Amino acid sequence: MSSPYLVPVARLLRDAPSSFEVEFDAPFDEPHEFAPRGPVETDVFPESLVHVKVRVESFSGGMRARGRVEAPWHGVCRRCSAPVLGRSDVAVNERFVDERAVDDEESYLIEHGFIDLAPLAHDAILLDLPLAPLCRPDCQGLCPYCGGDLNDVACDCQAPLDSRWATLDGLQFADPESSGSTDA
Ligand SMILES: [Zn+2]
Ligand SMILES: [Zn+2]
Repeated sequence: MSSPYLVPVARLLRDAPSSFEVEFDAPFDEPHEFAPRGPVETDVFPESLVHVKVRVESFSGGMRARGRVEAPWHGVCRRCSAPVLGRSDVAVNERFVDERAVDDEESYLIEHGFIDLAPLAHDAILLDLPLAPLCRPDCQGLCPYCGGDLNDVACDCQAPLDSRWATLDGLQFADPESSGSTDA
């Protein structure tokens, strides 16, 4: 079974300049061919469907894939740790070349008459993932003292008194500035 990410371009290269459109849904990384990303909370399930829609255009020496890549991601709210689901929708505009110039680290390679849109889609989506998502813009987070979810309940916790200052609490200070004035 061939991957929809693998697009034959040999004919397009012969008939330059020309272009065609590619659109498909395919799992993000079902063959697990990409390296695991590391300890980041936000990620895309390998079996999640990615929507790819690009126009492939030839130019001398290569082709350009321009369009959009979409994928659902899952993460954890940075304030309250609730699961968060979202969707990345990224504009892509990448070059595929027959041969990479020495200083060219951006282009993908045309191999055996095919361009592989999988690395392109993978790179674009991973770069777009939010590092610290929120479950909602006004998430109140967790109480640092009792751990309660402040979105659900308002607790009565207060910052514990620092004993170094406790004695000062019992003292009255005469404030020359305020004598004679009335507190608003
Ligand atoms: Zn939250
Ligand atoms: Zn609390």
